[in-house]
Amino acid sequence: MKPIISFSICLITGIVFSQNIVGQDTSSVYNKNQVFDPLFMSQGATEFRSADGAPGPKYWQNSANYIIHSTLDEKDTTLKGDVTIDYTNNSPDELNYVWLQLDQNLFNPSSRGAATTLVSGDRFDVKGYTKGGYHIQSTKVIYNGSTYDIPPVITDTRMQLRLPFTIKPGGDKVQIEISYYFSIPQYGADRMGRLYTRNGVIYQLAQWYPRMCVYDDIEGWNTLPYMGLGEFYCEYGNFDYYVTVPADMIVAGSGDLQNPEEVLTGTEVNRLDEARKSDSTVAIIREDEVGEPFMRPAKEGMLTWHYKMQNSRDISWAASKAFMWDATRINFPSGRKGISMAVYPVESKGDKAYGRSAQYLKHSVEFYSKDYFEYPWNSAVVVAGVALGMEYPGIVFCSYNIGGASLWHDVTHEIGHNWFPMIVGTNERRYMWMDEGLNTFINGYASNSFNHGEYGDTTNRSILGMASTMIKSNDPLLTPPESISLKEYGQYYFKTANALNILRNSVIGPNRFDYAFKTYIHRWAFKHPQPGDFFRTMNDAAGDNLNWFWKEWFYETWTLDQSVKSVKYVNDIASDGSLITIENLQQMALPVTLQITEQNGQTKKMKLPVEIWQRGGEWTFKYNSTSPITSVILDPDGQLPDINRKNNIWESGK
Ligand SMILES: [Zn+2]
Repeated sequence: MKPIISFSICLITGIVFSQNIVGQDTSSVYNKNQVFDPLFMSQGATEFRSADGAPGPKYWQNSANYIIHSTLDEKDTTLKGDVTIDYTNNSPDELNYVWLQLDQNLFNPSSRGAATTLVSGDRFDVKGYTKGGYHIQSTKVIYNGSTYDIPPVITDTRMQLRLPFTIKPGGDKVQIEISYYFSIPQYGADRMGRLYTRNGVIYQLAQWYPRMCVYDDIEGWNTLPYMGLGEFYCEYGNFDYYVTVPADMIVAGSGDLQNPEEVLTGTEVNRLDEARKSDSTVAIIREDEVGEPFMRPAKEGMLTWHYKMQNSRDISWAASKAFMWDATRINFPSGRKGISMAVYPVESKGDKAYGRSAQYLKHSVEFYSKDYFEYPWNSAVVVAGVALGMEYPGIVFCSYNIGGASLWHDVTHEIGHNWFPMIVGTNERRYMWMDEGLNTFINGYASNSFNHGEYGDTTNRSILGMASTMIKSNDPLLTPPESISLKEYGQYYFKTANALNILRNSVIGPNRFDYAFKTYIHRWAFKHPQPGDFFRTMNDAAGDNLNWFWKEWFYETWTLDQSVKSVKYVNDIASDGSLITIENLQQMALPVTLQITEQNGQTKKMKLPVEIWQRGGEWTFKYNSTSPITSVILDPDGQLPDINRKNNIWESGK
């Protein structure tokens, strides 16, 4: 999901390097025992999750395969569907009931999400839509050859099916069949909806079928309701889905289209073949071809588009007769080829807008595949529509009315979510930083790499701006999305990304960080890591106990203020060496970088590890000066979110 854009802008403007954000108070609040807390993360491993952060020897997760048949009724703006779920219980527990997510119920005016929306409205509300919510027509469960009609117990966005039998541990299977329909909201909490364009409506369909809640070793059934900000936690499985729409529409969906010869013209099939061999963009439907009958294989009635996607947490799709359509090849590190596509209305055409978006998507997928983990699917598509920015496996929804740098950042962010949480399957509803933050972190490197840094990253500048945000913060990153202040949720993105950049660049170095970070991705690909699994993997693979770092950045709202206290000379003679005293005045502790300049013109940089703060907030070290020191500057490159940069500088005679 896209951060509110103004948040990032306010971070990077108006922040001057030497800005003094708080007053010149030099009294210290630092308590070493809070930072280097021996009890923090001291609980032992389980047989499911190992002490080194890897999945344990008895790690398990359940699976859900879906077959869905759905029909878009344009006249009623309704989606009807039948879903069959093959659910496997790999847990060591007996299950006497199952829980499913009914996310469309957010759009019922009596939902908890509606009740907790500000009177003034917000990005995730239902905007007065009164027809929303699932209509569940039937729920059947098939077990050992018997079919049971189960009356559903529906509570807000969750549905429980109480079973007249027990799903046994260790691989027992059950089949669930549900028939349903719902009215498609125009504004679907910025995650789906309808956009009215010159040539037709763009439908973006997401959270469009009942999905299994995750049953895991931490919570049992994860039944937190969908209330708006908190995203989704889904099981992995294979998807086989059919979308029936008016014949004049194009459907872009997650996964691979199974029946192109039935739903495309020969021209479109040929152009797609050409695009699969081309690193430059090929138009599949040009502007002057939008809505033309010769671009569709059937003139009237309905057509069914059949897609499949393997080993995914979810699927989404979009349909419209207004789409222009571009495509280009994706080159994966293994040599495999894929396809990057963009569908958008004529209002979004041109190189300043969506005309380059298939290339943005291609570059992003290739970059993240090369540096982190190879994208496991064959196609990726960006859809211009009503949602500002929203991610689904293999498909992303971006705002139709942005272009240039904004569109690049939107596309690379949303497709970046295909690594977090689509490949590394975290619990987004509980830990938003694990998807938004890790994704924002990798987005910076992707931006630097695209077209010689055309839309280059702002990470360093945002680290300086982070300080003023951290002063005002009351909610740590571990705060769940439904209780974090709406003014603070941008921190899930930027504070996490800044923390990881500081860990990488100022604490353990790129080599150790990158190895540990990739180890985490590979260990937990297509699994369900918890925060501790990430922290432990980073500790273990990088080879440092970084618990102090995790505590101060993720569990607390502490701030940083490093200060130069004094410079003295051994025997009062500069050439005998200098004794430089530095202080840590706030509760956050980080390693120290200093730049020391002497009267003889010599300037040296030196680093001190975080361990200098283990015994207290003041530290004196000897520097082998040969002439009087003229200045000492802490954090000379502005890598740390120091809230008072005035006391970072000591100058002789001042
Ligand atoms: Zn996001």
